Amino acid sequence: MTLAAGPDAATLCAMLHDARARTLALARDLSGEQLLGPRLSIVNPPLWEIGHLGWFQEHWCLRYEGDGRLRPSMLAHADDFYNSATVPHATRWDLPLPDFDATLGYLQRVLDRVLERIDREGATEHLRYFAQLAAFHEEMHCEAFTYTRQTLGYAAPDRGRQAGAAANAGAWPGDVEIPGGEFMLGAAPDTGFVFDNEKWAHAVEVRPFCMARAPVTNVEFAAFVDDEGYRRRELWSDAGWQWREQTGAHAPVYWQKRDGEWLQRHYDTVVPIPPHHPVIHVNCYEAEAYCRWAGRRLPTEAEWEFAAATTPGLAGCKRRHPWGDAAPSARHANLFGVVGACADVAAFAEGDSGWGCRQMFGNVWEWTADWFGPYPGFEADPYKEYSAPWFGDHKVLRGGCFATRAGLLRTTWRNFYTPDRRDVFAGFRTCAPVPPSDGAPASREQGSRLRDAAVREPGAATLSAGATSVSGVTPPEGAPVPPSGVAL
Ligand code: FE
Repeated sequence: MTLAAGPDAATLCAMLHDARARTLALARDLSGEQLLGPRLSIVNPPLWEIGHLGWFQEHWCLRYEGDGRLRPSMLAHADDFYNSATVPHATRWDLPLPDFDATLGYLQRVLDRVLERIDREGATEHLRYFAQLAAFHEEMHCEAFTYTRQTLGYAAPDRGRQAGAAANAGAWPGDVEIPGGEFMLGAAPDTGFVFDNEKWAHAVEVRPFCMARAPVTNVEFAAFVDDEGYRRRELWSDAGWQWREQTGAHAPVYWQKRDGEWLQRHYDTVVPIPPHHPVIHVNCYEAEAYCRWAGRRLPTEAEWEFAAATTPGLAGCKRRHPWGDAAPSARHANLFGVVGACADVAAFAEGDSGWGCRQMFGNVWEWTADWFGPYPGFEADPYKEYSAPWFGDHKVLRGGCFATRAGLLRTTWRNFYTPDRRDVFAGFRTCAPVPPSDGAPASREQGSRLRDAAVREPGAATLSAGATSVSGVTPPEGAPVPPSGVAL
């Protein structure tokens, strides 16, 4: 697997350094029992996961020869410890792993050797591909480390960062109307590094649809919860209801109601729920139930990619990022290194897609309606376990979250989790049919968005019981009306 073009040697080294610095920042305060943590199916023992990063980088950048041969590792039993394809998840707590310092020493030796190789050989086609693969793999695990810290109630990793202006940007209600048409779903061969599941761009037809300008917010989701959404069987799919019955879920996993106010656990603290942040830590079943309650639906991934990558009048041209081809910055999206947590959905206006959808990158991953599957002509890349084992029983998510490294993303990037996962940094945005031309609301959610706009008072900082009690109230005369769509 090679790349005809891509980063130069210095950039490759910088990517590896950046990923490692993030790993160390996430790992350095862990100690004692925190390094193994409880046995949960949704997390890895941190000590194992750290060592696995070194193993992966060594495997692909130093040991893999491209002809089926594999050089020996510099660490005894490395494959028996850290090969995620062969070491069963449940056994990872029982392995005689090197201790923390020895694990970090292994990571450093591997990185030193990889940097030496890049310095010696330059950015060869082979190294362009595999060094990027190793850097991206490490960044993905860093995102997983971050949500693992939330899952386990450890301290927030980005405590010092401030949301700044993004904290009070508010709601961003309303839909855009997208005419659809034929477009090329997936990555074009000249994209540079892509994963096998993005290959290759192929023609699909997208019907006209409406898409929310922003992901569903906490205040919107609270209206569903307070309307007995988790108790109403008719709102749930069969699989979703089975999950709800088994878990007893009655609200998003970290929500708790105290004195009539919804609060949430944020790492090791309990805080008020910001009303205009996107709802986060909801699974695909919860997203689908909300959609049914609101008279909406999840986007297909083709709709999501169409809305993120095309522009009015230029459906044949696809953007690398929703805002265009300019490199991501803190003005465009809430990705890793910007805020360190979610921000209001109206923030990051400069990152709007060509159709006016905001935050298609950043803040939260967005569940789509589609199961993760291969595109036509799929062929697995050398890292065969990346995509193919997960086809069929995982759902596709798009867009990246506040903990995703910007360099990882493009509008064709496909993430995937099983539909029951609530630990990941996922929310969703909704779609609806194109409304009739008489201007009548297309769905209940449009009404609820009006209600949300009506109750949003300057300075409202928390999701209060008062804010959620308006479900079902007709918007007052003169309430601000969200735009019905963009001019086509
Ligand atoms: Fe991995």
